[in-house]
Amino acid sequence: MRFSKLFCPTLKESPNDAEITSHKLMIRSGMIRKLSSGIYNLLPLGLKVMRKFEAIVREEMNEVDGQECLLPSLIPSDLWKESGRWDKYGKELLRLTDRHSNDFCFGPTHEEVITDIAKKNIRSYKELPISLYQIQTKFRDEIRPRFGLMRGREFIMKDAYSFHANDESLSETYMQIRTAYQSIFKRCGLDYKIVQADSGSIGGANSEEFMLTAATGEDMIVDCPNCEYAANLEAATCSQVNISKSTNYSSENSNNTQSTTQDTAKTQSQTSDVTPSPESVLTPDMGTIEAVASHLKLPKNKCIKALLLFYGTVPIMVLVSGDDQLNECKLKIELDALFPEPQDIRFAEESDLQTLNLFHGFMGPSTLTDDQFQKGLIISDFRLKGIKGACAGANKKDYHLINLDEGRDFTPKYFFDLRNVQEGDTCPKCEKGTLSFVRGIEVGHIFKLGNTYSKAMKAEFLDQNGKTQPFEMGCYGIGIGRTVAAAIEQNHDEKGIVWPEELAPFSVAIVLIGHKDPDLTSAAESMYRSLKEEKIDVLFDDRKESPGRKFKDLELIGIPFQVVVGRSFKETGKVEWKCRRTGSNGCVGIDELSQTLNSLLTNGS
Ligand code: ATP
Ligand code: MG
Repeated sequence: MRFSKLFCPTLKESPNDAEITSHKLMIRSGMIRKLSSGIYNLLPLGLKVMRKFEAIVREEMNEVDGQECLLPSLIPSDLWKESGRWDKYGKELLRLTDRHSNDFCFGPTHEEVITDIAKKNIRSYKELPISLYQIQTKFRDEIRPRFGLMRGREFIMKDAYSFHANDESLSETYMQIRTAYQSIFKRCGLDYKIVQADSGSIGGANSEEFMLTAATGEDMIVDCPNCEYAANLEAATCSQVNISKSTNYSSENSNNTQSTTQDTAKTQSQTSDVTPSPESVLTPDMGTIEAVASHLKLPKNKCIKALLLFYGTVPIMVLVSGDDQLNECKLKIELDALFPEPQDIRFAEESDLQTLNLFHGFMGPSTLTDDQFQKGLIISDFRLKGIKGACAGANKKDYHLINLDEGRDFTPKYFFDLRNVQEGDTCPKCEKGTLSFVRGIEVGHIFKLGNTYSKAMKAEFLDQNGKTQPFEMGCYGIGIGRTVAAAIEQNHDEKGIVWPEELAPFSVAIVLIGHKDPDLTSAAESMYRSLKEEKIDVLFDDRKESPGRKFKDLELIGIPFQVVVGRSFKETGKVEWKCRRTGSNGCVGIDELSQTLNSLLTNGS
């Protein structure tokens, strides 16, 4: 490709709405342009990189017997009603109606369509297992589209689905595709982690995410340095060791009461195990754990955080320790298991509090009257089991209660693991390592779906005994645009993108410095032709621009190797090559150029 012909509108400045490096660099290097919120035009350079990544994904998926197909973006609502997701998926689902008043959605994912294909076309266990995949445009009406292709509303995904006669076969394919994903990210030179994940609205029991580590990542990865445990914070479980450590309240209390006894004389005595009776204390305008803890001179883990939310229409008071954060994913999983029908969770609004005569920042479990909370449920994080001498809201504006013992002064109906694990917690797997946190970008997600969809949609096959069985299913996604953006987050410097070779839009750029010199021009032209013949993906910067502009653009675009044809070529008969990533360089005669470049491209530099 000649740069003079390439439509690549590079920019010196990035647009104001671009917050993270990859978004800025994709715009500045002329890869993408925004059309509307979360919707982008892919310009030639951007598409070229996407296609390179797609080719790698295709090769690796084909290698594990994935078969490519292409399903429609528009999906009739009937299929989504069969699976039950038409009502459940919420506002991210873009719904449309055709001229005959038929409802459709624009597919955010394709479990329903593929399950319908299996239902209508696979009869017997003899035809299984089968893996189908596509690389196709999805639409999700994200509440906050941002970071360019990273979180778009319209985006390209590779989604694969596998069908099996039994769980062992599902596990086998799951592992094969997991390995294929490892090869994909490894080939692209990307730094990734596989982490345990929450399965979200797709459902199913078992799932793992592929995360590219990056400081700008929206996900928090919990990692154990001692064993292979790694999980998305949403899904990370709390170790029993942490629970028992933190429920040893009496020893902790006696440690810190020394400095606080004068001020909180009426709180639990440090010498006796018996907590005095609960007492109401004035805490004017102190609606946060910080304010209450500091006013009462109590440690934060003695202050109970009471949150009010609704599961469908049922009010739920959730209790966590004052130094913990509620994990909504874990809460949702527990509530889904408690109630017959899964419902959405929403936090109570001011009007709900008024109806229940409760006050934000002053809620607590011990004085809720039956009238007030008759249909409600109090549930608590494990860490509060057995807590003594705690403080919580008094359900009266500007008042808290102190000297609360769990079991005596309040009794949650259920205890679950509901807190976010914290950095420094003990690993739930090896129970030795200390958990650390690192930020990541979710680029892939693999699920063992089981028979959730096949049962709901009655997608069945005949097993060896001639009995009908629902298919066991797996599903496996990779965000194509998100991976390309995340690759830039991991590979850039102050001058621009530093593409890993497998993703680079071009492998080599020939830079002609001195386009007015016919000898130099014809030498550069002949190098360009011969590299093309050698099947090296080469960009020939033949533009009538200044050398400075050319180098700036090529560095911004991130071409791995440059070959400069300029004055020194006339003097020495050699051209200079330079590596974008390492800055290493060398001089080489024209005869050896393609050989040198091939070896640099194979071995890096
Ligand atoms: P997230 O938690 O980031 O919203 P998700 O868990 O909803 O993503 P999946 O349903 O697992 O996403 O989709 C599979 C893959 O599609 C993701 O791993 C990600 O790479 C990509 N993806 C999902 N949503 C988007 C989006 N809005 N823009 C770009 N890529 C996306
Ligand atoms: Mg996901």
